[in-house]
Amino acid sequence: MSTETDSPSIFSRIVAREIPATILAETDRVIAFPDIAPKAPVHVLVVPKTERYRDVVELAAGDPGLLAEVVEVAKSLADELTDGDFRLIFNTGPNAGQTVFHVHAHVLGGGLEEGTLG
Ligand code: ADP
Repeated sequence: MSTETDSPSIFSRIVAREIPATILAETDRVIAFPDIAPKAPVHVLVVPKTERYRDVVELAAGDPGLLAEVVEVAKSLADELTDGDFRLIFNTGPNAGQTVFHVHAHVLGGGLEEGTLG
């Protein structure tokens, strides 16, 4: 898969409504929409609107409050869309499968296999 290093990123283009997505939640600083290639019955991306942070390590160092807001939005969507339980995944770096270098949380829920990480 090709890597996404363009600016604006694909997620910034969703924020700008240049690429269509079903917006499931939006605050001043965060947006959430379904992953286009879902890996679980519920698979939502929660994304800071700024593309300043490429990954969760940069986000945690640069704006921990914004990271906390991503987690809050993930929890409220898990409550809304499934039973409140969820996996929160931040692929960090190309060797970990990150392809879009605009930090985003994968929120996975509903019908997850017990005791697995994938
Ligand atoms: P990976 O592609 O390995 O999951 P990332 O963690 O960088 O790597 O995740 C990027 C995610 O963005 C992918 O799950 C992909 O399906 C999703 N995606 C790409 N384009 C869109 C889009 N237009 N709308 C919703 N999700 C998208």
